[in-house]
Amino acid sequence: MKRLTSFLLLGLLAACSQTQSQEGEAYYTMDDFGKVEKIDVHVHIRTERDAFVAQARQDNFRLVTIVVDHSAGRAEVEEQFRYALWQSREHPEEIASVTAFSVKEWDEPDWTTRTLAWLDSCLDAGAIGLKVWKNIGMVQRDKNGALVMVDDPKLDTIFHTLAQRDIPVIGHLGEPKNCWLPVAEMTTNNDKNYFTNHPEYHMYRHPEMPSYEEQIAARDRLLEKNTDLTFVGAHLGSLEWDVDALAARLDQFPHMAVDMAARMGQLFYQTRENREKVRDFFIKYQDRLLYATDMGDEGEESQEDLQQSMHRTWMRDWQYLATDDTMQSDLIEGDFQGLQLPQEVVDKIYRKNAQQWLGVFPE
Ligand SMILES: [Zn+2]
Repeated sequence: MKRLTSFLLLGLLAACSQTQSQEGEAYYTMDDFGKVEKIDVHVHIRTERDAFVAQARQDNFRLVTIVVDHSAGRAEVEEQFRYALWQSREHPEEIASVTAFSVKEWDEPDWTTRTLAWLDSCLDAGAIGLKVWKNIGMVQRDKNGALVMVDDPKLDTIFHTLAQRDIPVIGHLGEPKNCWLPVAEMTTNNDKNYFTNHPEYHMYRHPEMPSYEEQIAARDRLLEKNTDLTFVGAHLGSLEWDVDALAARLDQFPHMAVDMAARMGQLFYQTRENREKVRDFFIKYQDRLLYATDMGDEGEESQEDLQQSMHRTWMRDWQYLATDDTMQSDLIEGDFQGLQLPQEVVDKIYRKNAQQWLGVFPE
């Protein structure tokens, strides 16, 4: 709750200073990209090379690297955390790490005790948060064959412990709404590609699985019963398809923020439909949105290719958020215009909100 109290204070301060600077907002340009300090709060570095951080340094980004429980078991989570720790220990000023826990051994009698001990060891080693992934809700089943949902009472102790210790939880729960549509009806090209290549996660093909609404409802119940938990919904909180739906959740849950990782296409799509609506959303919820990409490095791509694509993605998103340029992207069909958010809003999205919500890289 400490962090939430400081949000309220900051909100009041922001409200006071805003009225004083009403004449003419200041905007950044493309030339400011390298000058402004930025944080990408959702990347996956699973290697011991420095290619990723080197490009981040060049583009004035700091990073939060995230461990994901891909359902392969404890050993895989531990291996990913070793990479995250290696990166954050080599580059403590530039990389922070978020851990995860395995649910594969869910029915073992000592699962909760072992998981709490693992989390303790990660936090002692320097992890700043915990990630839960869509395997909770979509993959993991208990001994009776029922899917384990994120509001399962067995997870209560874990979320209570994290809330007490003021450790943020990053939750990728459910999938984009496109996942429940046929490929031809999906709004973004990246979703069309992903679900064509991952039919096991394409819920349109699996009508026996929980609906989109059931996934969102389980996440909402988690937030209802853990009002003192700091929660950052990854991928626009799986409400990427409509800023109004997302706004309703942000109103309902003051302890929730969202990251934009891998959902710029849905923002571009909505901007093409109604730019003012999206821009108004960003301004109204400027304290609750964290910039992120979901880019990563597993050490396989050539350093040059990796760094070029990182730079291209970061530049594209800066152009969209900071300028009013007319743009095109391979994520969607057609043109759209950048949001040209005021400098103050850009600074929050790119840095200050990460510092507030995740407690990373304090001034
Ligand atoms: Zn991710």
